[in-house]
Amino acid sequence: MAKSLSSAVAHQAVPPPEPEPWSIERSAELYRMDAWGDGFFFINERGHAAVRPFSGEDVTIDISAVVAEIRRRNAGFPVVIRFQDVLRARVRRLNEAFAAAVAESGYEGVYQGVYPIKVNQMHEVVEEVLDAGQPWDMGLECGSKAELIATLPHIDNGRLLLCNGVKDRSMLRLILSAQQLGQQVLPIIEKYTEFEQLQALADEAGVSPRFAVRIRLATQGSGRWFESAGVRSKFGVAIPELVAMTRELERRDCRDALQLVHFHLGSQIADIQVLKQAVTEASQVYANLVRQGIGVTHLDVGGGLGVNYGAGYARDEDGINYGLQEYANAVVYAVKEVCDARGVPAPVLVSESGRAITAHHSVLIVPVLGAYRPDVQPDGEMPAEPHKAVRSLQKTLDGLLQTSNTPSELLEAYHDAKDARNEADQLFTLGYLALDQLAAAQRLYWRICREVLPGLLAAEPDPEPEELAELKERLTDLYLCDFSVFQSMLDHWAIGQGFPIMPIERLDEQPGRRGVIVDLTCDSDGKVRTRPSCRCMRCRRRCRTTSAFSW
Ligand SMILES: *Cc1c(COP(=O)(O)O)cnc(C)c1O
Repeated sequence: MAKSLSSAVAHQAVPPPEPEPWSIERSAELYRMDAWGDGFFFINERGHAAVRPFSGEDVTIDISAVVAEIRRRNAGFPVVIRFQDVLRARVRRLNEAFAAAVAESGYEGVYQGVYPIKVNQMHEVVEEVLDAGQPWDMGLECGSKAELIATLPHIDNGRLLLCNGVKDRSMLRLILSAQQLGQQVLPIIEKYTEFEQLQALADEAGVSPRFAVRIRLATQGSGRWFESAGVRSKFGVAIPELVAMTRELERRDCRDALQLVHFHLGSQIADIQVLKQAVTEASQVYANLVRQGIGVTHLDVGGGLGVNYGAGYARDEDGINYGLQEYANAVVYAVKEVCDARGVPAPVLVSESGRAITAHHSVLIVPVLGAYRPDVQPDGEMPAEPHKAVRSLQKTLDGLLQTSNTPSELLEAYHDAKDARNEADQLFTLGYLALDQLAAAQRLYWRICREVLPGLLAAEPDPEPEELAELKERLTDLYLCDFSVFQSMLDHWAIGQGFPIMPIERLDEQPGRRGVIVDLTCDSDGKVRTRPSCRCMRCRRRCRTTSAFSW
């Protein structure tokens, strides 16, 4: 008796738990706004994406309202909206984070950042960064002759201008003249020949040059741009060259010419340990130079302060495992430790954060022109005499609709549907199936897919069956968007850099469709994928599930 009762309970269909009502909080979580939004982005009570440029203040900007205004003025899309106050806030936060680390550690030097203009060269952006960074004497970094000419007029007393990249004679001459005019412009020597060239030009002009060196660290970068550092990097002066350089400076009795030691690990440093190791290595170079009597006063840790595009603090390729304050602490404490141990004065600390300053402040708005939904087909009539394949599909569908199904029943139904559809496709190609029969087969097939997917998803099978990934991919909409991946998201196309993407409206509604963004270019590469290169078993689950976003 007891046994039959319990088995009766087990067979009774348990009603599924009432789904929690959708909320803007759930949308914020879905689009991981906490990870990348940095407090600037949120969803307002109207369900619109919005910006809060000043933390702790009530000023908010509804992105939809901005877009409506752009429409009203008939301006074209796609459009980049820049939030100047966010840019200023990022400059402030960076400098304050370093100031806090300096104060807390008792570091005896100061921090003086530079902004690498290659990251966003817009005149307005550079002006705004310089203006917001004025209290901390924030300077600039340039990487080419054109950038040097663009930045020189902006450098006044106290601010640094660092010149990276390959420098020809005319560029070196320009730098030397700017130095003569009292500007704090330093060429960053990347090759020994550049050093020789600089000396020769300085001798010709009868002046004593000041310069910096980019050193080639043993520490290899981390993240997508890892090749920017390490012994095989194309950048930087090797240690034997550095030693030869200092010997030459001693011979010429101009030990103060070398003022700054620089390294750059590459963008988006994923792992803070790698940064600490590189900073320690560079600090040792600095300490050795100082003890040798070379007048180095600055240590420049380059760029690479990451923006967390990934989920939380996961150390995957789009995520980073540290925040802004931890970055500043890591740099300051690592330099201090070496300087204290070696008994040398603390250098002026320089960093070249670009992405971390600008990333949050600009938003690309892209209109959706249309959607292709493979499983949404117009209704149609069943052929008067349905073919065997069509009948089989109908039977599978009826079976699915009658009862609730276990994951293995769902998989079986999907396999049957695939077989029947393949059969129908083949028969049609061979001329044995009429168009209306094929249409009916396809309609039924998509209908079955639509029934199977939610059931399988809800069962959360682990490991995920191949079929689930296939179904997710097949039932994903294509959203045709008015932009070009090659123009607006080149990093994504080239090296798979992830960017946060989300709808800006109706975020208080539960998204019901999965979508992939495709652009207007005639190139099939013009789409937004997530980590296309990653096919490993470990990541497959995550990659596949995030290869689409919800709409
Ligand atoms: C690109 C670059 C930067 C900026 O890197 P971010 O990751 O944007 O901070 C800094 N310094 C050098 C030498 C660079 O090439």
